[in-house]
Amino acid sequence: MTTKSAAAASRATVHGYPRQGPGRELKKAVEGYWKGRVAAGDLHRTAAELRRDNWRQLVSAGVHEVPTGDFSLYDHVLDTTVMVGAVPERHRAVAEPGSLDRYFAMARGTRDVAPLEMTKWFDTNYHYLVPELGPETVFSADSRKQTGELAEAVAQGHTARPVLVGPVTYLLLAKPAPGAPDGFEPLTLLDRLLPVYAEILTDLRAAGAGWVQLDEPALVADRGPAELDAAARAYRELGALADRPKLLVASYFDRLGEALPVLAAAPVEGLAMDFTGPAAANLDDLAGVGGVPGKRLVAGVVDGRNVWINDLRRSLATLASLLGFADRVDVAPSCSLLHVPLNAAVERDIDPRIQRWLSFARQKAEEAVTLAQGLSEGTEVIAGLLAANSAALAARSSSELTRDASVRARASAVTEAGTRRDQPYPERAAAQRARLGLPPLPATTIGSFPQTSELRAARADLRSGRLDGEDYDKRIAAEIRDVIRFQEKAGLDVLVHGEPERNDMVQYFAERLEGYAATRHGWVQSYGTRYVRPPILAGDVSRRAPMTVEWTRYAQEQTRRPVKGMLTGPVTMLAWSFVRDDQPQAETARQVALALRDEVADLEAAGTAVIQVDEPALRETLPLRAAGRPEYLRWATECFRLATSGVRADTQIHTHMCYAEFGDIVRAIDDLDADVISLEAARSHMRVADELAAAGYPREAGPGVYDIHSPRVPTVEEVVSLLRKGLVAIPPERLWVNPDCGLKTRSWPEVREALQNVVTAARTLRAET
Ligand code: GLN
Ligand code: ZN
Repeated sequence: MTTKSAAAASRATVHGYPRQGPGRELKKAVEGYWKGRVAAGDLHRTAAELRRDNWRQLVSAGVHEVPTGDFSLYDHVLDTTVMVGAVPERHRAVAEPGSLDRYFAMARGTRDVAPLEMTKWFDTNYHYLVPELGPETVFSADSRKQTGELAEAVAQGHTARPVLVGPVTYLLLAKPAPGAPDGFEPLTLLDRLLPVYAEILTDLRAAGAGWVQLDEPALVADRGPAELDAAARAYRELGALADRPKLLVASYFDRLGEALPVLAAAPVEGLAMDFTGPAAANLDDLAGVGGVPGKRLVAGVVDGRNVWINDLRRSLATLASLLGFADRVDVAPSCSLLHVPLNAAVERDIDPRIQRWLSFARQKAEEAVTLAQGLSEGTEVIAGLLAANSAALAARSSSELTRDASVRARASAVTEAGTRRDQPYPERAAAQRARLGLPPLPATTIGSFPQTSELRAARADLRSGRLDGEDYDKRIAAEIRDVIRFQEKAGLDVLVHGEPERNDMVQYFAERLEGYAATRHGWVQSYGTRYVRPPILAGDVSRRAPMTVEWTRYAQEQTRRPVKGMLTGPVTMLAWSFVRDDQPQAETARQVALALRDEVADLEAAGTAVIQVDEPALRETLPLRAAGRPEYLRWATECFRLATSGVRADTQIHTHMCYAEFGDIVRAIDDLDADVISLEAARSHMRVADELAAAGYPREAGPGVYDIHSPRVPTVEEVVSLLRKGLVAIPPERLWVNPDCGLKTRSWPEVREALQNVVTAARTLRAET
């Protein structure tokens, strides 16, 4: 395939780059600053060095235009809040305008003031700080960070493109400030915000910006006329500015859909669009609007949020068909590379067969360069790279790692009936009541107990060899005994073993399942200075051996009360990992579900009467656009049932979810067919109990009565009052009493007191029924 064209040569760029540095230098510097060990000047110096290294790396890979302003000491949405002067009143009092202390007060709070709320950036695992805007908000431009970083890059000899969160997305990501009138919509502040963006664009032009990128990922969700009109108005107005840089409006994570004609008609010089995953539909949509003639199109053909090598030939074909649609087609990863680890080449412990298939930020930038070169100079010039790429892809698709015949045979034999329990719910409920003999309003917890520093130290010692396996197991056993004894004393009815052996609820299982790979340096920013190393789902999944049975059995031996088995569900096992891109997620989830099904069976055979399968990620994995949701919920709930439906009538299946508004997934919760569900609810005052009741939810439920995200211990009266609310919607024989989520982040003194209060509250109400 030769794709020479008469149009301007294609070039490579990226929307953003990981901030942390190869040794997580940024984390160390920022945390050092918080502890008073690193001076402000040194923190800024470290940050500037990291930016310099990133740009240098990108440019030496052949990237033409480097991003600036995407770097952040904590979060780029927080940076935007500072840039537009929307600092909440309570943080203004903390320190000087523009100071690090004020910035970090917004991010983390201080002893006296609460931080901004944090939530997920679209459907990624990155968390941003939510702007708080109200009718009183006055915006003012502070372009220093943006112009400063641009000036650095220019001084280092680079062609640079500042990247800003766009005004429409900024407002759509905001929430009403405390005290704003009911129903206040931040988007109504657009007319006030646009002059501030205009001023910043003018400043950036003066600082030498040829192009500025405005990120509008919010436009890829289902948007109504008011929002589309806001987008049209925003870019009409910014486009009409006299002395401004060229504008590149960037979208990613899904197709632009109804926002595409709006942006295509806007007086801006460029669009960046995603052409990977569900966003591949952008290709047809572009054809549908007759392309974007006269504009620069930055084509995101390299998946910016997953870790696999690109299919270069396929991307070249996409790029070739895009050539006719724009004045100039540049190549980029689909979104900021913030969502992937830095460098796959440093992963020396990973199976070398898998390593060939991996592409992290550094490699993705190189892929974009290769594609741009192939597109403008012809594929002959990249023939060697294309051949190597084809060979790696072929090795992947024929590998026994990705195609385990027995796993595939088993997965394809699954029938709908095989995902259903043998008995209808009422029959199961009766059998479980007879076996468990629980009181009304039974009290339980969600699984984990405090992960003490001793436990963490023991795990670190095990890893470094200072502690041998046997001694480590002794510590875990002792912890389990303590946790069981405490729960018996406190008067809980269904106990847990406390999960002391688990570093993380996904990683623990990933390490024990075939098909998962772990990285050594694959850190990805979750929020602020918190980085995670998501496991990689690389091949067909199967279980080598039982994963949780030993510790569960050990815990059960310590008590006559039922101990819950504790597993992580298939959707969550995918959501907090990098997933395969060579088969539908539903396939991968089904393989995980089958492995869990075996674990459930083994737990049951070992005498476990109650088994909980956590799905905290079920709600957050919901596709951005409503059109994709029914299909997702179909396979997600089916996989949960596949994992849990093999048990006897008198084995009780629990599930748990948190971090969510549940209103829009009540039907899906019902489809899980779990006997008991526990849900986060303390902060929303048991609203979910009403939602379940309104939907006619027939099974047992435990809306949380203890907010475990706060160090505050709830009083008996508070818990009683929450339970009374719950009892209005759910009768006592179907209402469980439990915290919002696991207790691993809390301290023992808090947990002791809180659970005691929770049990006392349950007993108080039991006496009334
Ligand atoms: N069982 C897990 C725990 O208690 C559940 C965690 C979660 O829902 N995020 O820690
Ligand atoms: Zn939870």
